[in-house]
Amino acid sequence: MQRIPHIINGEKVTAGDRSQAVFNPATGAQIREVGLASDDQAAAAIAAAKAALPMWRASSLTKRADIFFNLRQLLKQRTPELSAIITEEHGKVLSDAAGEIARGLENVEFAAGLMHLLKGERDEQVASGVDVHSVKQPVGVVGCITPFNFPVMVPLWMIASAIACGNTVVLKPSERDPSASVFIAELFKEAGLPDGVLNVLHGDKVAVDALLHSPDVKAISFVGSTPIAKYIYETASANGKRVQALGGAKNHMMVLPDADINAAADAAVSAAYGSAGERCMAISVVVAVGDVGDRIVPAIKERIEKLVIGDGTDPASEMGPLITQEARDRVASYVAGAQADGATIVVDGRDQKFNQNGFFIGVSLVDNVKPNMKVYLDEIFGPVLAVVRVDTYEEGLALINDHQYGNGTAIFTRDGGVARQFEFEVEAGMVGVNVPIPVPVGSFSFGGWKNSLFGDSHIYGPESIHFYTRSKVVTTRWPDPATSKVDLGFPSNH
Ligand code: NAD
Repeated sequence: MQRIPHIINGEKVTAGDRSQAVFNPATGAQIREVGLASDDQAAAAIAAAKAALPMWRASSLTKRADIFFNLRQLLKQRTPELSAIITEEHGKVLSDAAGEIARGLENVEFAAGLMHLLKGERDEQVASGVDVHSVKQPVGVVGCITPFNFPVMVPLWMIASAIACGNTVVLKPSERDPSASVFIAELFKEAGLPDGVLNVLHGDKVAVDALLHSPDVKAISFVGSTPIAKYIYETASANGKRVQALGGAKNHMMVLPDADINAAADAAVSAAYGSAGERCMAISVVVAVGDVGDRIVPAIKERIEKLVIGDGTDPASEMGPLITQEARDRVASYVAGAQADGATIVVDGRDQKFNQNGFFIGVSLVDNVKPNMKVYLDEIFGPVLAVVRVDTYEEGLALINDHQYGNGTAIFTRDGGVARQFEFEVEAGMVGVNVPIPVPVGSFSFGGWKNSLFGDSHIYGPESIHFYTRSKVVTTRWPDPATSKVDLGFPSNH
């Protein structure tokens, strides 16, 4: 069985006793295995990043920018290959895989502007003969720990800015779809990145804990589920590191009676079921205000009956399988639980039969969901859309604000005043107005509120430059030009 290598100081490392199977979720068959790092391998990856740091932090900004421009071209050229790798191990359809690469490219393009992003500030003559200036310097070795659901985009959320700022990186990707991160490291190398600047360490808790406890790792970026995000935040910050830990979500889409119901139904279908609902910005709850429930539920039902679910490599497929059999069964158990709790199962994904042995399940639409039901409270991370009916905007808003998660949210309306009110008072980090998945473009930062983010720094964009640098302020005194003439020590016209 082919083993996916770690990349340590530019070398492929496949040795090691522990490994885990990697599956093609569309066939259910094991296709590779991935080594799970030992403590020694984790130490070697951290040591490689530490050794590369003095050289990389001293590298010129033009050289760094050049690498990002090269990488941008390579990522564009190799998108079909990389999409195929994503689809093979993750299961999402090829167009979704290409879409996540395109979103990740935004972070590479942002990083290519590092000359502007790393500019310091200067104040002249703050006191007689005294100037002050600031510079942004790298924090050191950064540990980046990523989830399975975006094996290219989420690593690029972190490593593009971290590397641009002069840091070196140990990337610990998800062990469920690890090949894409090796491909990215190879592209970085081809783009001109020196060995040791980006290391890829596969593994489980052993590798993660090594990063959290090593005194040589100065910052941790994490994206994944909330319980692990909380653990990462608490452990890394107790060890004196700066941490950003993005967690899970339950994103609500409020639809007001004046909304364009067809547009809202289209948006709900693509945002709830795209990538099989395995997106942290997926819509999982429609908050139907007034009579909206009676109109939008049939509109969504009509649309999802036509959805084509199948192998992600088939151009006809609009949705692929889930990541594992356990994930599939978990989703099915939430639909069963909703039924037992008295919700109305309008479309039952468990009923759909598939020819393949993969981890497939059909999409589910659950109406008359109440806020005390598990199908409402928990992040399901699958193709299940709950509809909660409320009488008023205020009731809908309270529902959203009371939920433990506050990643993204959206409102569908034709009323600009209500939309502005919603933007002002809703408790979530990213808000869409007639946009179901408001993932910020790369020049803004991404992050949720409440249990969707631990730490105070959002990811990528301007906040990433702040997170991945330390500011240094320098105060200098020279003879005051206002009162003293500089003696140059040689003849001068001045
Ligand atoms: P996960 O939390 O299981 O895994 C994330 C990472 O943590 C992986 O690299 C994994 O190896 C590691 N990990 C898992 N268990 C660990 C443990 N006990 N100790 C130390 N490390 C551990 O998440 P996942 O299933 O890969 O991804 C799905 C989750 O990620 C969902 O909850 C989703 O909402 C969330 N997510 C959030 C965002 C966001 O921006 N907020 C983006 C993408 C995904």
